[in-house]
Order: sequence, then C-alpha cells, then structure tokens
Amino acid sequence: MKNILNYINGQLIEAKSSKWLDNFNPSTGEVYSKITDSDETDLELAYQAANKAFPIWSKTSKEKRSEIMLKISSLIDENLDSLALAESVDNGKPVKLAKTVDIPRAASNMRFFATGILHYSSESQQYNDTAINYTLRKPLGAVGCISPWNLPLYLFTWKIAPALATGNTVIAKPSEITPMTAYLFSEICIKAGLPKGVLNIVHGLGHKVGAAMSKHPGIKAISFTGGTTTGETIARTAAPMFKKLSLELGGKNPNIIFADCNFEKALKTTLLSSFANQGQICLCGSRIFVEKPIYEKFKTAFVEATNKLIVGDPNNSDSNLGAIVSKDHLNKILSYVSLAKEEGGNVLTGGNQLFLNGVNANGYFMEPTIIEGLKFNCRTNQEEIFGPVVTIMPFETEDEVLKYANSTVYGLSSTVWTESTSKAQRFAQELEAGIVWINCWLVRDLRTPFGGVKNSGVGREGGFNAFNFFTEPTNVCLKL
Ligand code: NDP
Repeated sequence: MKNILNYINGQLIEAKSSKWLDNFNPSTGEVYSKITDSDETDLELAYQAANKAFPIWSKTSKEKRSEIMLKISSLIDENLDSLALAESVDNGKPVKLAKTVDIPRAASNMRFFATGILHYSSESQQYNDTAINYTLRKPLGAVGCISPWNLPLYLFTWKIAPALATGNTVIAKPSEITPMTAYLFSEICIKAGLPKGVLNIVHGLGHKVGAAMSKHPGIKAISFTGGTTTGETIARTAAPMFKKLSLELGGKNPNIIFADCNFEKALKTTLLSSFANQGQICLCGSRIFVEKPIYEKFKTAFVEATNKLIVGDPNNSDSNLGAIVSKDHLNKILSYVSLAKEEGGNVLTGGNQLFLNGVNANGYFMEPTIIEGLKFNCRTNQEEIFGPVVTIMPFETEDEVLKYANSTVYGLSSTVWTESTSKAQRFAQELEAGIVWINCWLVRDLRTPFGGVKNSGVGREGGFNAFNFFTEPTNVCLKL
C-alpha cells in the first residue's frame, strides 16, 4: 500500500495532524491507500517554502526553468505505463484511456509551457517621437493551483506548468478523491532536480486545504478547476483580498446535430462526447439536439451503438467505460436518472447501476444512459450531471435550437454538426460558449484560449493566456 505524502520544501512528509484519509479504488470499492490529511498548518508550511524559493526561482533564467520542466516531461513519458495504471486505479477510468490521453497530455502540458516560455515576449508601443512604452511581465509570487478528479494529472499539470514557467512558485492541491498521480509527480519533480520549495503539493480535503489556500493573504493568485459552487465559494473568499482568479467551472454542453451533417462522423463522435471517461469530462455534450428529419434515424443508431459499449474492468483493453469515480458520485448520477423519470423522461437505454463479477463486484459501475422526452428547461436539462447520462431531443428551426442551447446558466463548450459553413459560422457567433467545435469534439490545440462564459468560469487558460494570468504587467514609459 502506497501512502500519499505532502511534497513541501522538497521533502515528502506527513501532515502535522498525523491523520489519514482513505483512498478508494472505484473499480473494486476497496481502500487501497491512505492520504495524509492536511490542514491550514501544512498549507502554511507550503506557503513558507514557496515564498522562500520565489526570489531565486523567479530570477532563474527561463532557459534553466525550461530545462528542468522538460526533464519532468521526459520522466512522465518514461513512466507512462506505471502512471497510466495508477491513474486508472485511482479514478476508475480505463487504463487504455489514461495511457493514450491523460498521461501523454500531462507530459505535453509540461513540454508545451516549458518551450512556450522561450517564445513569450511582451509588447511595446512607440508614442509619436515623444516616448516609447514597453511592458514588463513579472511573476506574481507564491500562487495556488486547485484541480479536480476527472482528469487528475492532466489538469494538475495544465495549471502548474505555466505558473512555474513564468517564474512563480506554486502550492498545489489535487482532488482528495484522486491524489495518486500528483504524489507520483512529486517523486518525479525530485528526480528531475526541481529546486526545493518551487512546487509544493498539499494533500487533503477541499474544505480544509483548498479553503486555507483561498484565504491565505500571501497567496497572490488561484487557478481553480472544479464545480461552479466551489468556484463561487473560492471567489467569495479570495476576491475581497484582490487575488487574481482563474476559474474553470462546470458545463452543460449542447451537441447540435443538423440534418445536413456527415451522419456517420456525427454518430461516432457523439458516442465519445457523451460517454468518454464515463461522461466525466467538463466538455462532454450532455444535451443532444437533433434536427427533426434525421431524429428517428439518429436516435435508433445512437441507442444501438451505445448498447454495444462495454462497461467493464478498467484493466481490460476491451472496456469502453470503466468505473464512476466514487460511490457518492454514482449515487448523485443515479438520482438524476430518477429525477428525469419524474420529469417525464423516457430512458431509451441504461439508467441503472451495473453489478460486475469477481474483483469488480463492489465497484461503482453504471450503464451509459440516453433519455428522451424531456423539456429543454427541466432540471435534468439544466443541471450538470457529470456522468454517462445524456438527453436527446428533436428540433425544427435554428432559432428554436439556439434558444435550447443557450438556455442554461453554463457556457463552456458547444458542438455543431453541419456541412453548411455559413450555418456553422452563424452558430459559432450566437452560441454562448467559450469553445465551439464544428464537426469535431475535443480537438485541442494548447495555444488556444480555453475557458467558459456565464457560470462556466472566469478567465482563459491555454497558450499565452496562461502566461498572462500568472504574470503582472508593468508599463514602463521611456521619454525619447
Ligand atoms: P469540486 O469543485 O468538488 O472540487 C475541485 C477541487 O476543489 C478539488 O481539489 C476539491 O478538493 C477542491 N475544493 C473543494 N471544496 C473547496 C473549497 N471550499 N475551497 C477550495 N477548494 C475546494 O469539483 P470536482 O472535483 O467534483 O470536479 C468536477 C467538476 O469540475 C465538474 O463541475 C466539472 O464540470 C468541473 N470541471 C471543469 C473543467 C473546466 O475546464 N471548466 C474541467 C474539469 C472539470 P476535494 O476533492 O479534496 O474536496
């Protein structure tokens, strides 16, 4: 059993409380490791270490910072198999998904920002013959990064990498539900020679460690990915202290399928955008709107394809879906299926917990679920479920589907399937979303602005946006 320790000031250490939390394997329902249960005392130690390391790290050349980060990236690549297995055991996702998506993406996050910083330059403006202005971009100091459980190492590194590249020191908190790869990452950082105190990882509960981070007066910025309610709590605490905040929050994304789409491509990708990672991706398209002329044909083909998906042991290479991340989350998803039925929904397929055999007998598995017959504005169609549950409904006009698509408080991403370029562009203009995918889903260029509108977040990550967030601009005006 591997116990998960904090990484503070270059050391792997137990929380001061000496208390431990259970870490579950969701595919067996068993406790398979213990997590050190930190609180504000440990957070303070991490802050002290980060603050002490800041003057040297911020003055370290960007080439040197880049070199260390590239070493970390290579070590992630070298440990692909063990990290993928660890991610799968901790989260319940199929090993093959962790091996092809999560872990390679964690390595490329480190590589992308390590090389990106070498190309990051600031602006300058000449003011007639009078003066020249140029912008200094200074790191903020000790910053906080808080990440969720659905894409553990992927999102953890997505936050940490731009912060470190720009010369900040970091205090990071992974989700207590999936802390294992963050712990393995701390071992990698030690091996790569990251100076002590530059990155500090504090494990434990959100309402203890995360809350202590939000209210710490010395932590200059918080980059958070997680639920909208948690984001609101963090903002309430941090905003009056004028901390910089980047909030990547929940979604209830529309997937709009027009009759003039490439049917086979739309069908194949909709299967993924509905059920990949057991539907636990903030970008999943959980509301599917299909234009009436192809509604019945699409529905029949989609149900048929969904019925062929294999929900099984995450270790099995045939499994398309693994386990739901926790028992509580499974119960939450199932309660939404009950709600959908109360609201008049008809479950076309799925809807139930799935009981497997052998080592998985006590795991948290669920059938991929499609529900029709619901109104666009019922709770099932308005609230984030974050599981393998989608709704499907027909539409007749562009205005009608636009109204449905934009009807929620969220605005993270949207997908549009049509062969008409002008229609696609019209929708890209009108959809209230930070990201619009046309005839594709989850195609990610790390240079693009990433984030949501409305209750899906504040700020943008990705590319130079992330560098801008983790630096403070100072305009210098030089008289000519
Ligand atoms: P939560 O908001 O519950 O948790 C996210 C992180 O915040 C965890 O590390 C959690 O710790 C921590 N946390 C919890 N309470 C507090 C608090 N009071 N103060 C500070 N930190 C706290 O989200 P989930 O982990 O359940 O993740 C799922 C959510 O994340 C979904 O809503 C999903 O849409 C969203 N998400 C958004 C993405 C985006 O890019 N917009 C991407 C991926 C997910 P702990 O787990 O230990 O309690």
